[in-house]
Amino acid sequence: MDDARDNRTANNAAETDTSQDTTVIHSGRVSKSHHGAINPPVYHASTLLFPTVDGFLNRQKAEYGYGRRGTPTTRSLEDAVAKLECADAAMLTPSGKAANSTVFSAFAEPGAHYLITDSAYFPSRKFCSGYLSQIGVEAEFYDPRIGSGIEKLIRPETKLIWLESPGSQTFEIQDVPAIVAAAKSKNVATALDNTWGAGYFLKPLTMGVDVSVQAATKYLGGHSDLMMGTVATSSRVTDRIKNFYGDFGLCVAPDDAYLALRGIRTLGVRMTKHYESGMKVARWLAAHPKVAQVIHPGLETNPDHNLWQRDFTGASGLFGFILKGQDSKSVAPMLESLKFFGMGSSWGGYESLLIPTFPEKLRTATKWEVPGQSMRIHVGLEDPDDLIADLCEGFERLK
Ligand SMILES: *Cc1c(COP(=O)(O)O)cnc(C)c1O
Repeated sequence: MDDARDNRTANNAAETDTSQDTTVIHSGRVSKSHHGAINPPVYHASTLLFPTVDGFLNRQKAEYGYGRRGTPTTRSLEDAVAKLECADAAMLTPSGKAANSTVFSAFAEPGAHYLITDSAYFPSRKFCSGYLSQIGVEAEFYDPRIGSGIEKLIRPETKLIWLESPGSQTFEIQDVPAIVAAAKSKNVATALDNTWGAGYFLKPLTMGVDVSVQAATKYLGGHSDLMMGTVATSSRVTDRIKNFYGDFGLCVAPDDAYLALRGIRTLGVRMTKHYESGMKVARWLAAHPKVAQVIHPGLETNPDHNLWQRDFTGASGLFGFILKGQDSKSVAPMLESLKFFGMGSSWGGYESLLIPTFPEKLRTATKWEVPGQSMRIHVGLEDPDDLIADLCEGFERLK
């Protein structure tokens, strides 16, 4: 497998000055080791055979020693994700939730204190206030817009600050550099759920964050057909997280790794289209008389617009809006007859989705007091004019 490694090193060197659209096409590819095939084969493997006793006895040091610890298929994906996230290493987990739980667990010890953004994805919150509290870790939720004020919340026993930017359902953009500066001054690790930015529009590790996690289920997969998570680490924390990851026997199925690799190759064109179409639909919604507010950081009227402009290079297709004077019952006639928008969990596929949300029920550190029904829209890869026409008819069905 030396061949593969040489080839990868050569690839990496060539990628240093290239744009990320080129990088996502070429990263993690080792065609030379696969008879020239552009895509790596799907290695279904548990046992890997060694021809010599010496090789077998030293299998821990081999690039490929046992299926759980990786195959050329999963390694290709890890390399591609590490490149995308500008990371020292990347690990693959069976779901996005497992990626989050891996990071939460890797820093856990009895008596530890974690600071978690109040805008975190709900299952992340649940892991902290449930399992982690059982093993003696105290999770304290903080205002996502706290910025450098986080410093006052850091204690000697604080081990981890968890960010998610923008937040789930409410889409607050966090002041990542300010939070990272406070964390670094107190030697506290930081991790950011980067699912919305997909590693494409936000590069947390270049901003000093220690870990970037993603639900690859969303944009990296991009086709609503796989569950996976990624954990991308800076060299400061790679060993710590790799140890936990290995101890828990985490790994992913080769077919899913293949699908995720396939998804990554088109990330650039997909994200660009989600961004453009999302902006168009957001602007149209903002002008609609039945819409009280659109929550999209790309809109000039958004309170976080300047932060977003400073730190992000674009926006995904996911954002929120508030309907004037509606509730979850009264929106049913609109939602149930839309032609192009489905209702369901998750997002990041090529298709559009529209669901009601209830952020007021999730908060503890801050209040979400916005009258009217909150909605979450995912603008997919359809023609945005068709989506707008569909929404327009939907609004006519709203009383
Ligand atoms: C969906 C999601 C997850 C969880 O991903 P799964 O693959 O569904 O487990 C984690 N974080 C965010 C922000 C998400 O949107």
